Amino acid sequence: MSTTWHIVGAGSLGSLWASRLARAGLPVRLILRDTARHAAYQAAGGLTLVEHGEAQLYPIPGETSDSEEPIRRLLVACKAYDAEPAVAQLAHRLTADAELILLQNGLGSQDAVAARVPQTRCISASSTEGAFRDSDWRVVFAGHGYTWLGDAAHPVAPIWLDELSAAGIPHAWTPDILTRLWRKLALNCAINPLTVLHDCRNGGLQQHQCEVATLCAELAELLERCGQPAAAEDLQQEVERVIQATAANFSSMYQDVHHQRRTEISYLLGHACKVAARHQLNLPHLAQLEQRLIAHLRTLGLPSD
Ligand code: NAP
Repeated sequence: MSTTWHIVGAGSLGSLWASRLARAGLPVRLILRDTARHAAYQAAGGLTLVEHGEAQLYPIPGETSDSEEPIRRLLVACKAYDAEPAVAQLAHRLTADAELILLQNGLGSQDAVAARVPQTRCISASSTEGAFRDSDWRVVFAGHGYTWLGDAAHPVAPIWLDELSAAGIPHAWTPDILTRLWRKLALNCAINPLTVLHDCRNGGLQQHQCEVATLCAELAELLERCGQPAAAEDLQQEVERVIQATAANFSSMYQDVHHQRRTEISYLLGHACKVAARHQLNLPHLAQLEQRLIAHLRTLGLPSD
């Protein structure tokens, strides 16, 4: 009998994982925020995945954190700022051999979760897949990609990776997950805040090449200093390539701000600035970028953490 995939965070990425796992015949249960969200989910009859323009309903069972069933495998698919509180609510249900898979972008939330459940194996993921909700309980698979998984503390891959293959979730296990997470964080820091401040698509940053290059130099310095030289390699070239390849897209931070949603700033640019300060590294342009972004978010009445 397969271990049940409990999934907390039935948003874009959580729903994308849930519906593909369920489609492969694997046992999945969604953990909803509270009884009101659970009732709304029950009324919808399940999750709908829209792929290649075709919508398919998956009647995956739902529950709240109050349910008593023990949890052996938990996919945490909340935003970075919600991950640790969501896991804290479920900690009493985790079995001694439980494993957590953390899908959060950026850095900082993984350590917060691990500190909350120190006996539990925490596997981090870095994904280039893209999904968005066009309504509650309905997710659109917007961009095919790849998910890297790894556990810096224990390099041995878990056996359930086979289930991801069965579910058609493209993935690979890596002993260098931290390097992947840092590299993605650096790309995000060089692109996303500027798209918000210049109010432009990614391609609009081609008009701000000097600013981008200065940030890349500081980010590379930070990566070297915090023991991630591989994440610093050719950073500027990759940032320029991403800007070109995704020129027509709005960055995730731009979209969050546009939709008046809280951003993940503290786990991206904020994390980079915090680590720089810890290393007593003076990165004036990165620090100024953070201050400009925080001021901008406050002007819009959005949380700046
Ligand atoms: P999202 O659509 O906002 O979904 C987050 C979900 O978490 C929401 O459904 C929210 O519930 C739920 N949630 C929060 N706290 C909860 C709690 N205590 N109990 C139960 N549910 C809770 O976010 P997302 O876009 O999937 O992003 C998740 C993470 O993946 C982020 O770190 C993001 O950066 C990363 N990521 C996303 C994508 C993508 O394409 N979307 C790609 C790569 C990485 P409510 O619905 O009740 O608010």
